[in-house]
Amino acid sequence: MSRERAEELNRQWSGISPEEVLRLAAETFGIEGIAFSTSLGVEDQLITDLLHRQGLDLPLFTLDTGRLPQETYDLLDETRRRYGVRIEVLFPEASSVERMVSQHGPNLFYESIDKRKECCRVRKIEPLKRKLSKLDAWICGLRREQSVTRVGIGVVEWDESFGLFKISPLVDASEAEVWEYVRAHGVPYNRLHDRSYPSIGCAPCTRAVEPGEDVRAGRWWWEQAEHRECGLHRHQEQ
Ligand code: SF4
Repeated sequence: MSRERAEELNRQWSGISPEEVLRLAAETFGIEGIAFSTSLGVEDQLITDLLHRQGLDLPLFTLDTGRLPQETYDLLDETRRRYGVRIEVLFPEASSVERMVSQHGPNLFYESIDKRKECCRVRKIEPLKRKLSKLDAWICGLRREQSVTRVGIGVVEWDESFGLFKISPLVDASEAEVWEYVRAHGVPYNRLHDRSYPSIGCAPCTRAVEPGEDVRAGRWWWEQAEHRECGLHRHQEQ
């Protein structure tokens, strides 16, 4: 039923503007039922700006894995100040991080895909799961052209991994369109984007990309492209 409802909403909301998607999402799920998950990437900054301009007072949250670049923390502060918003910051369970790092070391993610996924599970997925279990829908900044793992996504989907609706208002946007908006409206963005980091995650798992490389090529660059998701958007791996 939830899957059918997601398909129905996806048909209705496909092709409409991101502003309208956000407005409909707020109206459909209500302020108690939906939240925006921002990683502070450029797409997410655009969404924060759209919410602010429309006066849509939806809750915002972000995941602090404990391994983020300083530039991301700087942007978190700048965003809070610029928009006057409260951004809930979710941390991993301290005991789980202590156990993992004590057993496998601080750089376990370079040793195998399994250990990398374990680190993402502890630092990202578990905190996200705790948060999403209280919601009916979440908003995120996915775009289809971001990577081979994201080509099939819809504006509304049933998120099988976490059991709620997932809404991606920018699904049809191109990278050029995102940057055009951000520059035209003076939206604050991560300074790493100016240093050839199109997609930014944890510091040890993100590198700059070469000209012509896929925008996600700098994420977990030591793995094959089809593995390069952290599990937050797990079903796109299929
Ligand atoms: S991106 Fe890297 S450091 Fe961050 S949670 Fe995943 S494996 Fe760990």
